[in-house]
Amino acid sequence: AKVTRLGPSPTGFLHIGGLYVGMIDRDVASQSGGAYIVRVEDTDQAREVPGAVDQFNRAFAYFGIEPDEADSVGSYGPYHQSQREQIYLTYVRELLRQDKAYLCFATKEELADITARQQATKLPTGYYGRWAIWRDKTAEEVQEALDAGRPYVVRFRSPGKAGERTSFTDAIRGQLEHEANRNDVVILKASDQSPRLPTYHFAHAVDDHLMRVNLVIRGEEWISSVPTHLQLFDALGFERVEYAHIAPLMKQQGGSRRKLSKRKDPEASVEYFIEAGYPAEAVKFYMRGLVNARLADLPLSEALEAPISLSECGVAGPLVDLVKLEDIAADHVATLSGPEIIERISAWASTYDPALVSVLSDERDSALAALQVERGPEVANPRKDLRKWSDFRAAYGFFFPSLFELVTDRTDERLGGLSPELISAFAADFADGYADLEDGQEWFGQIRELAGKHGFAPNPKEFKKNPDAYPGSIKEAAQLIRVALTGSNRSPDLHAIARTLGKDEVLRRVRALA
Ligand code: GLU
Repeated sequence: AKVTRLGPSPTGFLHIGGLYVGMIDRDVASQSGGAYIVRVEDTDQAREVPGAVDQFNRAFAYFGIEPDEADSVGSYGPYHQSQREQIYLTYVRELLRQDKAYLCFATKEELADITARQQATKLPTGYYGRWAIWRDKTAEEVQEALDAGRPYVVRFRSPGKAGERTSFTDAIRGQLEHEANRNDVVILKASDQSPRLPTYHFAHAVDDHLMRVNLVIRGEEWISSVPTHLQLFDALGFERVEYAHIAPLMKQQGGSRRKLSKRKDPEASVEYFIEAGYPAEAVKFYMRGLVNARLADLPLSEALEAPISLSECGVAGPLVDLVKLEDIAADHVATLSGPEIIERISAWASTYDPALVSVLSDERDSALAALQVERGPEVANPRKDLRKWSDFRAAYGFFFPSLFELVTDRTDERLGGLSPELISAFAADFADGYADLEDGQEWFGQIRELAGKHGFAPNPKEFKKNPDAYPGSIKEAAQLIRVALTGSNRSPDLHAIARTLGKDEVLRRVRALA
């Protein structure tokens, strides 16, 4: 059984990479009958953003990626590192007692000087060998510094030797070998700060051991720290964990790829997908395809259940392609029933578009009819204009008088530059004729007839041949009615829309231009 964990730091929004790794953690744990833990790594209190943890929890909930243990659930907590101070101190004391760690009173200036001299002579930077100035001080010297009230950190006495190599197996990358760590890394931060918090390295070893984590899945930027971490596990007398280092999610920019950036790319934030209302299962399906390419070829429901394999996970960062994701989402939405879609949109809108919730419940029949126009039984969602829940207003809002804004300005650019007089005359004529039609039959006949009467070319080809002879073709004439009815010059079948709106509403909208 694999016990996995995610260690998000509440220093901002949840990065999509965090959700990605959390999904892998969740799955690998479930598949093996283990457990998945979320541990909040809040040791950098200066950078902490209030509310970040709640937001993380909402994000995980939206995607159905819930931990077995976190905060109040689980018996291996506390699951906030800031609440584990006494635990870390216990282990720090134990290492000090065994002389596997020591107090270091080096000042900022001394450390900067050490780094500068190492750089000047092209030596690896760090606190090692003869540069580790507090490593071998006598007990008297240490006591003197303590008595003088000098602040200190606690450093690990690294057992690494020059030239030594460390090899380990990564569940994704296989056998790896790195230079052994020789750096006496800090394990407990400065003594003049409260609370006294551990560094990432030390907290990783202590927490993952005490929480009986045995598989650490994390970003590849930590690979180079593995030699340090293995030394810490050994020094503490803990069993080593297994590692799987995940390649970062990438973005195509021009001809090159770069990591998705928290600063530059809105889609680097999980919140972006939630606010826009991407169906969670479509995002998950897409992400699983990024983890194991073969899962992208399965039907969505199967892919969501199929086990993830770490050994099949790529070592090159996969590209996040929003266009591809939107296509997947559109295809998926097309498989849902009208009532299901309305339920999903309402659930999303309750947070992100509250006004839409009452429209969808008060005018549920119109909503169903609207979706039906687009999603006839033969071709589901042919125009794919419902990819995410926030698309509903733009794609279907015109079906609802309360969401629709009448087009009254005859110079509105959506009307394609036809003269205001022509628009007015055409709209008036159309409305008069339409009022007499029974149930809108003869719809196309009417447009054709009126187009001819108002001097439009009978077809686009004819208009193209002789552009000065006509104001436009029958296409532009129909477009005028389309804009009046939908506010857009892109919409599903106009006749079907008119039938759904009903005669009174069609007349009201067309007459607004007359
Ligand atoms: N808090 C660390 C981070 O956000 C977690 C790394 C890990 O998973 O060990 O990068």
